[in-house]
Amino acid sequence: MAKYTGAVCRLCRREKEKLYLKGDRCYTNKCAVKRNPPGQHGQANKKLSEYGLQLREKQKARRYYGVLESQFEKYFEMANKMKGITGENLLTILESRLDNVIYRLGFAMSRPEARQLVRHGHFTLNGKKVDIPSYLVKPGDVITFKEKSRSSEKIKAILDANESKVIPKWLDLNKATAEAKVIALADREDIDLPIEEHLIVELYSK
Ligand code: SF4
Repeated sequence: MAKYTGAVCRLCRREKEKLYLKGDRCYTNKCAVKRNPPGQHGQANKKLSEYGLQLREKQKARRYYGVLESQFEKYFEMANKMKGITGENLLTILESRLDNVIYRLGFAMSRPEARQLVRHGHFTLNGKKVDIPSYLVKPGDVITFKEKSRSSEKIKAILDANESKVIPKWLDLNKATAEAKVIALADREDIDLPIEEHLIVELYSK
């Protein structure tokens, strides 16, 4: 049987990291990175220039969160204007995207799935329907499923699969009602992704 080489898995291979873009599959032996670890054919030994390293780090961050280049640049500008450390601000902004929050809450198996569920209008934000994955959440925002969506078999299966998922401390989830509240914005220490944000700042500072 031919090996699975879906487009999103190629992104992981390109970044030489698991980006967790395919939900369940990413945690199994079917994962393309697990089956063929990068570097098996010598690619990992190729030395990157300083610019190459910075570019790869930016691309990796962009792909983790599923953000287009132009949107990523806007986030960087926002981060640069905020008080504090630009790289950390950038990650806080990316974590605040509604699609990421939905994924972090265990309301979707991957960020791409979260994006799709948001676009299809399965959630409410502060009691109103929301369908904008790039919406940046704020402390106090309340997120939950629409009544009809909550009782669908697909959503029930996702919630069951994520029953024991660890929810970051900046989010508060009532598992019984599937209602969540944003307690605060994510700090750098809350973000578990292997991103060296200083490289991204260096790239945009050229
Ligand atoms: Fe594919 Fe997920 Fe593995 Fe990435 S982590 S290669 S998306 S299965």
